[in-house]
Amino acid sequence: MTETKTSLLHEKKYPLYINGKPIYTDHHIPVYHKYTGELIASISKADKHHVHEAVSAAERTFQSDQLTAFQRSTILLKAANLMEQRREEFELSLVREVGKTRKDAAGELDRTINTIRLSAEEAKRIAGEMIPLQATEGADNRLGFTIRVPKGVIGVITPFNYPLLLGVHKIAPALAAGNTIVIKPATATPLATFQLVELLEEAGLPKGYVNIITGSGSEVGEWLLADERIAMYTFTGSGEVGKHIKERSGLRPVALELGNNSPNIVHEDADLDLAAKLTASRSFHNAGQACIAVQRLFVHQSVLNEFTENYLGYVQQLKVGDPEKPETDVGPMISEKEAIRSEEWVNEAVEQGARALLPIRREGAILFPTVLVDTNPSMKVVCKEVFAPIVCIIPYQDIEEAFHSANQSDYGLQAGIFTRDLQLAMRAAKVLQYGGVIINDASTYRNDVMPYGGVKNSGIGKEGPHYAIQEMTDERMVVMNL
Ligand code: NAD
Repeated sequence: MTETKTSLLHEKKYPLYINGKPIYTDHHIPVYHKYTGELIASISKADKHHVHEAVSAAERTFQSDQLTAFQRSTILLKAANLMEQRREEFELSLVREVGKTRKDAAGELDRTINTIRLSAEEAKRIAGEMIPLQATEGADNRLGFTIRVPKGVIGVITPFNYPLLLGVHKIAPALAAGNTIVIKPATATPLATFQLVELLEEAGLPKGYVNIITGSGSEVGEWLLADERIAMYTFTGSGEVGKHIKERSGLRPVALELGNNSPNIVHEDADLDLAAKLTASRSFHNAGQACIAVQRLFVHQSVLNEFTENYLGYVQQLKVGDPEKPETDVGPMISEKEAIRSEEWVNEAVEQGARALLPIRREGAILFPTVLVDTNPSMKVVCKEVFAPIVCIIPYQDIEEAFHSANQSDYGLQAGIFTRDLQLAMRAAKVLQYGGVIINDASTYRNDVMPYGGVKNSGIGKEGPHYAIQEMTDERMVVMNL
């Protein structure tokens, strides 16, 4: 699993993609199979001039070539259908470039197709509202209403962990709303973006609507942030980079989907088997590299032993290894470096008094599911975002204490609670300081139609096609003097 092997797979070279034209550059970035370490592709690295050209193409397209809402919807629907026909190709690519298991890749595909379809439907529903100007004296001859207009060029920056789905959560609503796009995917997993844009153009999207530039965040990302012609940035990634984007974007709007440290509460009256089953499977999907993965499991003292035994039973059934094997549940992390970093956090916690309920085991980029108890709030595995297959089980006596501990985080994306008490569930919904509170399911539950986004350091703005379209359009007031 080193990253130095030569390619056994067909190594494909990907150019930049600007105004419908492939542009091959002299500098390349290798893309590796995250499990075998084989070189699977190389992508062209953009320079400053390419970034400028990509924004110019998006700007020209926005100013000159406006597809109607009906056309945009039709293109998106066709793209969703094409993706469904080619899901094997898309899934396998995700398995290879991300190290995602077949099961996780299939889940990402389902949700991606769904999100494109939801965006296609929303394209036909973009509307303003009537404003009752008659409410003020002397305005009887005025008619007032708002229309929603696209913002222009949207700068899209995406992370490595769900390269297809998270790209689509930005690109599909942006297109549905009538914007044009320049996207910079993560260098570790850029291939999904190329496949997606190829598919959109096959579905009828004219050239210039989506332009791809690839390269590091510190160069290509920075050049993108410096271009004042970009009307809005939509970013998913770490809190650190998110804050930087907000600082650099000035008065331009930003949508930021950032990190998290999800709490899940298992109360004494919970359906313990349901809680154990769902939290066990959702703790470790995508090797824990999901922003709403279960990280802190607060369990009522009275059910701690029963829950923990049940939970471990499910975790031990998870199959760890080669992500291409259909039965595998947990595959490699994005790199050996990240797996080593995660293992170090675990070892540090153990040195400080935590206990691992399963053997701590790492093989290359694979960190086996790790379950810790006897932690304390200052340990990195508890207070920071682990973004790895690591879960801490933390007992509590009193539910108010659990709510308090759950809120002891700089983040606030989603939280989960298992309880049969409706009043307690509603209290959790009110007091947990998170963008979403999931009752009787894990914090990982995301239905792509719902508004999704965090509070505190988890970000600004909401995704979900309907909500993203609100953010990617301006509400313009129109007044008629009749
Ligand atoms: P990252 O912040 O390191 O990188 C994300 C993207 O930002 C990449 O494309 C990167 O090249 C780019 N970037 C880096 N520096 C930049 C700069 N100076 N200017 C412009 N762009 C720059 O994140 P990652 O490691 O790819 O992803 C993991 C993080 O993403 C985790 O913190 C996770 O919680 C978060 N995430 C959040 C959500 C959500 O919906 N809230 C979803 C998935 C991942």
